[in-house]
Amino acid sequence: MVCLVDDLLREAIIRRATDLHFEPADDGLTVRARIDAELHAVEHVPPDLCGNVVARLKVLAGLLTYRTDIPQEGALTLDEGSPVAQDVRISTIPTIRGERVVLRFLARQPDILSLESLGLSDELLAALRGTASGGGGLILVTGPAGSGKTTTLYSLVHWLIGRPHAGCIVTVEDPVEYRVDGIAQIQVQPSRGLTYARVLRSVLRQDPETLLVGEIRDAETAHVAAEASLTGHLVLSTMHAGGAGEALLRLLEMGVPAYQITSGVRLIVMQRLLRRLCESCRRPTGDPEGPYAAAGCDRCLHTGYAGRIACGAIARMTPRLREVLLRHGDAAALSAAVDAEGPADLARDAERHVRDGWTTRPDVRRISG
Ligand SMILES: [Zn+2]
Repeated sequence: MVCLVDDLLREAIIRRATDLHFEPADDGLTVRARIDAELHAVEHVPPDLCGNVVARLKVLAGLLTYRTDIPQEGALTLDEGSPVAQDVRISTIPTIRGERVVLRFLARQPDILSLESLGLSDELLAALRGTASGGGGLILVTGPAGSGKTTTLYSLVHWLIGRPHAGCIVTVEDPVEYRVDGIAQIQVQPSRGLTYARVLRSVLRQDPETLLVGEIRDAETAHVAAEASLTGHLVLSTMHAGGAGEALLRLLEMGVPAYQITSGVRLIVMQRLLRRLCESCRRPTGDPEGPYAAAGCDRCLHTGYAGRIACGAIARMTPRLREVLLRHGDAAALSAAVDAEGPADLARDAERHVRDGWTTRPDVRRISG
């Protein structure tokens, strides 16, 4: 049993899975790994072993093995103290077929990519570096779940570390997604009253220059982040929103005064992740507009893709956008104002990766819905 669980964990790490799901079914446990945003079945555990597998996972994370009727959350570190140590968060929940367990593998400093290697355009990177280089204000990265928002912000933090204007860098997150030396990282714990807003207010009394706020998802956090951005702090955060217009509208709806948004928000990045063609098996097409197609081999689990690559677009606070915000324009007016300065075109940026042979047109259609 110990070996089976250890092998599953190790295999998931080697495959660079972000999550590992243990899903109870009538005929046992289905184990699936999320690799490059997609779930792949990796193991099936027969019914007589299910209880032991779940119990082993709970022991590793110090959870109560005898309580199978309540949701539990915990954390563990695999290979603690070694260079390949891996932080894992675990959550269990009782279902009608037994306990469902999900493991999330958190990234560590060596996994942080340089800004240049994310796949974002030179123009976008110049805007990010330029905005982060002085004057404070809010930089928002928007996109759906799993679009690499936090990774981009961490790459930016990594670039900032040691630069004179970056000063003291503090992150407030739920969960802390990367461990980084040289900055203060704080885990939000709502069950202990440590909400985003409360932690942020305390952090602001500790003389920080740069703040990374994991996500703006409630009105109080939005208010504190906006106020901090107006008092000379550089605030980096993410929002779950389809585009810049939608993100600005949500800030308005959360009650952040329009004048704070127009003065505080300096750059909005809209980001998506495309799947990256497996270089071991990609098939030449002879079409210069899309030189490779997906095939499939053992290395890429026969998907044709291995790893991901980011594309994005930016929106800045322009006089027209400012004017629409101050008169509380609706979603359509905000989006029109964002597009007025040259459409923030994600699809066009994604096409760049198709032409360069990193991904395929079908994958671009997947993200553009
Ligand atoms: Zn392949």
